[in-house]
Amino acid sequence: MRNVDEKGSVGSYVSHWKEDETSHIMEGDREKSKAGKTLLLHSCCGPCSTSVVERLDADYHITIYFYNPNITDEEEYYRRLDAQRKFIRQYNESPDRRGLLGFMEGGYDSREFCRATKGMEGEKEGGRRCVECFRLRLEKTAGQAKILGYDCFSTTLTVSPHKSYETVSHIGRQLSYRYGVDFLDMDFKKKDGYKRSVELSKLHRLYRQDYCGCHFSFMERNAVAEEKRDMESKDEDRE
Ligand code: SF4
Repeated sequence: MRNVDEKGSVGSYVSHWKEDETSHIMEGDREKSKAGKTLLLHSCCGPCSTSVVERLDADYHITIYFYNPNITDEEEYYRRLDAQRKFIRQYNESPDRRGLLGFMEGGYDSREFCRATKGMEGEKEGGRRCVECFRLRLEKTAGQAKILGYDCFSTTLTVSPHKSYETVSHIGRQLSYRYGVDFLDMDFKKKDGYKRSVELSKLHRLYRQDYCGCHFSFMERNAVAEEKRDMESKDEDRE
């Protein structure tokens, strides 16, 4: 099994990217340095990508790969995509950046998510549906990394305290073996990764969603909010 540990070598990259609005793809013109590795980084959203990029950009030449058919509401999908692009634009314009970020959008068809999670609609967040959702997104990333000749792939999914690092790691390693591309296996929520992503999102004024992505997580969010409102009104009645 091929696997990249957390001590990736320190390298510097020069990269250029351009946006092609018509094809939905912004391609990084990847120029590999002697020491660094090219990394195709699956990103679930702009906010989660911020602290991961900050952590890795000295060691890897990063292309952000936005592939998230799990966002079942189309308007919400484009809102998150805009936040992702905004972060990349601001990052690439920043004088403090250590490399230029590339960007690719994996295309959007929420039916891919529905097919992959069929029969698991009633699962709670964190259950089997989420495992298949991670697998869908990571498998496409691993496949693209192989086709496009990246040295390794990874995902920002482990930034979230709601996502199991062990599950993501297990899937990433399986796919690394299957596709023959290294998996950068890191729990990005460690070392205050999540807290830092919140800080950086505020700094960059990024839209931060308050539910995971699929219709089911949206309904779960609403149910929790309603329960909270009920509790608060009961407390007020007692006062
Ligand atoms: S809750 Fe999140 S991770 Fe789980 S299936 Fe829905 S979008 Fe995917």
